Amino acid sequence: MTSSLKHIGVLTSGGDAPGMNAAIRAVVRCALHHGLKVTGIPEGYSGLLGGELKPLNSLSVSNIINLGGTFLKSARCMEFYKPEGRTQAAERLEAEGIDALVVIGGDGSFTGAVALSREHKVSVVGIPGTIDNDIYGTDFTIGFDTAINTVQSAIDKIRDTATSHNRLFFIEVMGRDAGYIALYSGIGAGSEEILIPEQSRGLDYLLQSLERSGRAGKTSSIVVVAEGDKSGGVYELAKAVEETLPGYSSKVTVLGHLQRGGSPTCTDRVLASRLGVAAVDTLRDGTSGVMVGLRNNRISLTGLEKACKERPDIDAELIRVSEIVST
Ligand code: ADP
Repeated sequence: MTSSLKHIGVLTSGGDAPGMNAAIRAVVRCALHHGLKVTGIPEGYSGLLGGELKPLNSLSVSNIINLGGTFLKSARCMEFYKPEGRTQAAERLEAEGIDALVVIGGDGSFTGAVALSREHKVSVVGIPGTIDNDIYGTDFTIGFDTAINTVQSAIDKIRDTATSHNRLFFIEVMGRDAGYIALYSGIGAGSEEILIPEQSRGLDYLLQSLERSGRAGKTSSIVVVAEGDKSGGVYELAKAVEETLPGYSSKVTVLGHLQRGGSPTCTDRVLASRLGVAAVDTLRDGTSGVMVGLRNNRISLTGLEKACKERPDIDAELIRVSEIVST
């Protein structure tokens, strides 16, 4: 353990994700367990610049493990993009006696943490918190499991109407650059087709696939579309299918922000608890500039810079499974 580590700051930054509270709780409880002081920084990097810092004790994080969102609040902070903003943040950390920072967020938040660490030698550890599951160096990010379960249960409900009325439903789910939410929830909810940005297969592919399932006797279909898929967008796809395949009556549902909220699943709470403890352990070991993640169900460290710059490949085995089971 580094004897200089006495006081940890923790913040949540970027898009909120269910399980962030469980991660804060684990950071606080693990730090206290080792006799370290912990301070909560409100509203992401904005809180470092001018927010009211909160000393955290064990009771401060009671009864939050079951809550979605983040009780520290999250924000996007434009000043932090500029070196002067980061200098101000580093000066505040020093003035408050905070030796190290735990940043819970996505790749944008990690990019800010890398800059702060490089320019001002601040010790930082990242915890991946985003529903998109698009961070290199971890099999799963905090919030992903909750999001896919939310989407799956929404699709199950929509399927009742699809089958009762012989309809084709296009369901847009989150994922501007990554198709993981679409792929997992689409497989889990038994969708007939899944369109993701990593493939962007286009309208012709979709039409052929729907024609095939029509010939096979299917009278209703669910097509899950990640928002970043470039096949044309849900409304345009629905219109094009109705024009080309007159047998289909198409409907569109955009799930939107309901995917970000809700009580975290047990899997997310356990993941967040493991990563929160691992973040404090990592700082106590004297290691900085890394993200804690889970690989093959074991804690794994990845350089923060690599975690920001690289993108996890979409899993080819999952795509194959989705193709086989949807026919
Ligand atoms: P996420 O962490 O979910 O990817 P953002 O991309 O919005 O979310 O990033 C969250 C915050 O991290 C930004 O508002 C900003 O304060 C900080 N940040 C993001 N990118 C950078 C960058 N290139 N340099 C410095 N700070 C950054």
